[in-house]
Amino acid sequence: MSRHHHHHHEGCQRRDAAQLLEQCLQRAKAAGLRRTAALHEVLALLLEACQPLTLADLSADPRLAALADRSTVYRLLVKLEQHALVRRVGLHDRAAYYHIHLPGEHHDYLICEGCGRIERLEQSCPVEALEQTLSAQSGFTNLKHDLTFYGLCPHCSSGSSQPCCDLVH
Ligand SMILES: [Zn+2]
Ligand SMILES: [Zn+2]
Repeated sequence: MSRHHHHHHEGCQRRDAAQLLEQCLQRAKAAGLRRTAALHEVLALLLEACQPLTLADLSADPRLAALADRSTVYRLLVKLEQHALVRRVGLHDRAAYYHIHLPGEHHDYLICEGCGRIERLEQSCPVEALEQTLSAQSGFTNLKHDLTFYGLCPHCSSGSSQPCCDLVH
């Protein structure tokens, strides 16, 4: 399971990425993280990506590979996750994906247990109404959730022995 290139499709690019990056860097600074070139690049790559990225995706990116080795990138991701700048989704460490966590931005995911590919649910969040009901019933405010569906992608459920291709839309 390796995904060598960043996958982009129309309409998923964040507008004002430069401004978002600056906000993330400010949040990182407030959390006590040193503003290194590698930190800057990890955040920039995650902001530019429209899908969560693996450690391998990130550390193989030429822009980041020039600045930091894989274990440094991993340690950065752990710190960013601790401070809620980054969230991790996936089955376990080996198939973990990281995505940037922006206030007000929320995505749910589908993950294939066969090949590990991940897809963002394009429909609006299926549990938003449930969240509002829970909030009203429990008195909890600022509810958030992580929602990940696991299953087999069309390729894996067809039983093909061909290696699963990268996500191609
Ligand atoms: Zn699959
Ligand atoms: Zn959701």
